[in-house]
Amino acid sequence: MPVNSRATRRIAIIGSGFSGLCLGIQLKRLGIDSFTIFEKSDRLGGTWRDNTYPGAACDVPSFSYCFSFEQKTDWSRKWAPQSEILDYMEHCAKKYDLFRHIRFGTEIAGASWDEDASVWRIRTAKGEEVLAEVLVAGVGQLNRPNMPKLHGAEKFKGVSFHSARWRHDVDLTGKTAGVVGNAASAIQFIPQIAPKASKVYIFQRSANWMVPRNDLAYTDEQKRRFARNPVLTRLYRWMIYFQHEMNWPVFRRSSFLSRRMTEAAETYMRTTVKDAKLQEALMPDYPIGGKRILISDDYYQALNRENVEVVTSGIDHLDENAVATKDGRSIPVDVLIYATGFDSTAFLAPMAIRGRGGHLLQDEWAGGAKAYLGISVAGFPNMFLMYGPNTNLGHNSIIFMIECQANYILNCLRGLDESGASTMDLRREVMDEFDANQQKELQQRVWASTGKSWYKNEAGRITNNWSGSTIRYWWKTLRADPSVYQLSARRESATADHSPDRGGRTGSPGGLTRNGRRNVGGEEISYGRGDFGKNYRQSIVLVRPFEQKLQISHSIFGETLACTFVALNGQDQTSPPIF
Ligand SMILES: Cc1cc2nc3c(=O)[nH]c(=O)nc-3n(C[C@H](O)[C@H](O)[C@H](O)COP(=O)(O)OP(=O)(O)OC[C@H]3O[C@@H](n4cnc5c(N)ncnc54)[C@H](O)[C@@H]3O)c2cc1C
Repeated sequence: MPVNSRATRRIAIIGSGFSGLCLGIQLKRLGIDSFTIFEKSDRLGGTWRDNTYPGAACDVPSFSYCFSFEQKTDWSRKWAPQSEILDYMEHCAKKYDLFRHIRFGTEIAGASWDEDASVWRIRTAKGEEVLAEVLVAGVGQLNRPNMPKLHGAEKFKGVSFHSARWRHDVDLTGKTAGVVGNAASAIQFIPQIAPKASKVYIFQRSANWMVPRNDLAYTDEQKRRFARNPVLTRLYRWMIYFQHEMNWPVFRRSSFLSRRMTEAAETYMRTTVKDAKLQEALMPDYPIGGKRILISDDYYQALNRENVEVVTSGIDHLDENAVATKDGRSIPVDVLIYATGFDSTAFLAPMAIRGRGGHLLQDEWAGGAKAYLGISVAGFPNMFLMYGPNTNLGHNSIIFMIECQANYILNCLRGLDESGASTMDLRREVMDEFDANQQKELQQRVWASTGKSWYKNEAGRITNNWSGSTIRYWWKTLRADPSVYQLSARRESATADHSPDRGGRTGSPGGLTRNGRRNVGGEEISYGRGDFGKNYRQSIVLVRPFEQKLQISHSIFGETLACTFVALNGQDQTSPPIF
């Protein structure tokens, strides 16, 4: 019996947003019950629990903003509102029996790797210690609101709040509202509050590129068709996916597509906004795609209202009841709404995660967060990240990335089972090479030639975005390559060599090279390049008709690929599920 096999391995997942739910569901589908999802809030949903501002909705179409293995067919609109997305997430948790795995109101304060026991010692904010062989962080990139430090903010006597903590008890009717920021959240709620408020001032730091959303409501007949016809729904989802994926070249500098999209966005703005001076204020000074391309059918229209004003001179300080701008204006406001985004580049902060040798993740990431495929960090064994560094997208659904990550993590866990190892740690040289290549490639992207954005840290390193297409990400995460990891057995029983030069790290068992078998701690470990596995050569050959017989092994964006495994000795045999 391998050490910590799937039957006994404890898996701790932090966060019950789409990431945590996705992994939890996939574990359940494999019959693995030994996991707990720790959620600091009292409700699941992450982004979609927190962002309840008026007009909150997804900005990739609903049909691709849900799990491929749990396709929702009755979305009310092309861009679903927040409440519908949150309901969908609760539906998933209920259907896959996840609620009994979630510990609500449990914030994780930190975790330390215990080398001898090969476990993560996880600490909750209330001081409890929990042990788990595997730690997965699904804490999101956009979970902690960013509040700018405005001079004099403590003096302000009006009501103020962040858009991700919307104060539904504050009635804006007849009030003067100030909105700090004009990006993805602001452009959704400003058209909703403008008809109520007596005046809305938008404090804009930089203009954004925007294209029409072309929203539509699905008719009952369309919903019935989607429900009755899974093939149609699948095709529709694929169509949306590829339509969005085709926008990827826009992030390459000066591509043909970026020129066309720039023209289209400028035309949309100039033909919608009436005031010529305002048009100039709304022209971005950076290439399209450098910051998130916004989509809206009603923001520019709202700017045409008499009671809406865009203020571009910058905030100098706050007074008791007013915002003082750098050009000397004092603008009275009753309610100040911060649409200032999130602390997006600190990733797992404020948790204190200590890996091998007590090394702090914050120190590892002193120059900016990095992770192999956004998932594994060298020196932090058996730890996996979801929606981690450099996995954000500017053009397609994050759920696609999350599903790839869940698949990859399960592939790693299966690899641990089959190798008999208890620990896997990314090789440092793999991490460094991956990061160097990724950063080099990112320099070719439009984000590099844009000033500040939430994709970059203070030092200007692009920490958030994936540098390629999502198809490439899918391919790279389809299978975990064991040669990029050091596999080792539990120290107390291990015969593996320990590399003193790495602060007491357990080295690769007896110097694992590319392929072969090795005895570690009395257990035979097999390893090889290409995929984890004992005796199977894998070929992805069959689709739907055979899935019952062969068991589903990969489910990527709804397209189920059944795999048949051919034993190396030539005898065909049906495999167990790949995960
Ligand atoms: C307003 C808004 C709109 C968006 N729209 C889209 C869209 O249309 N399409 C798209 O692809 N993406 C969109 N995104 C990005 C979105 O964040 C991701 O799509 C996705 O929801 C991320 O899911 P997640 O589970 O990784 O993170 P989150 O949804 O952020 O969930 C993280 C969870 O972890 C919990 N948590 C954090 N720290 C701890 C801790 N220490 N202990 C315990 N629990 C903890 C949080 O409470 C939260 O529940 C949007 C983001 C925002 C803010």
